[in-house]
Amino acid sequence: MRVGLGYDLHRLEKADGADGGLWLGGVRVGGPWRALAHSDGDVVLHALTDAVLGAISAGDIGDLFPDTAEENRGRASSEFLAEALRRMAADGFGLVNIDVNIFLQTPKLGPFKAAIRDRLEELAGLAARRVSVKAKTGEGLDAVGRSEAVAAQAVVLLARTGG
Ligand code: MG
Repeated sequence: MRVGLGYDLHRLEKADGADGGLWLGGVRVGGPWRALAHSDGDVVLHALTDAVLGAISAGDIGDLFPDTAEENRGRASSEFLAEALRRMAADGFGLVNIDVNIFLQTPKLGPFKAAIRDRLEELAGLAARRVSVKAKTGEGLDAVGRSEAVAAQAVVLLARTGG
């Protein structure tokens, strides 16, 4: 068995209309924010990618996909996760379960949690009840609480495939 831990944070800026909305776990969440990032700024997929890479001791997302590389500009973060999962499978491991915490002051993520969980199950190829998505605010404190940032934590458990 292997365990991996991931964390990510991105700065938020105000964005209205069609520009507004954050990518969280591959789901577009409405609201007056945009994440400042070289890629799509999806903190959930970045934390999850790092957790998978951590579990197989394969470096971090910045090693694989530098934010100085032009080919990573605006890139869908699902591609980062897919590469981490490919490396995991090549190392002879499969995912057992995923647990995620998302930190965002507004909007409240309650209405989006099920969709994010469903999308993560799909991206990770996991059955129902193998992915958990929990949402927290910053209680009006710190960068999350002041709506200056969105953050996420992810933990994954891996098991050897094929005995
Ligand atoms: Mg990131």
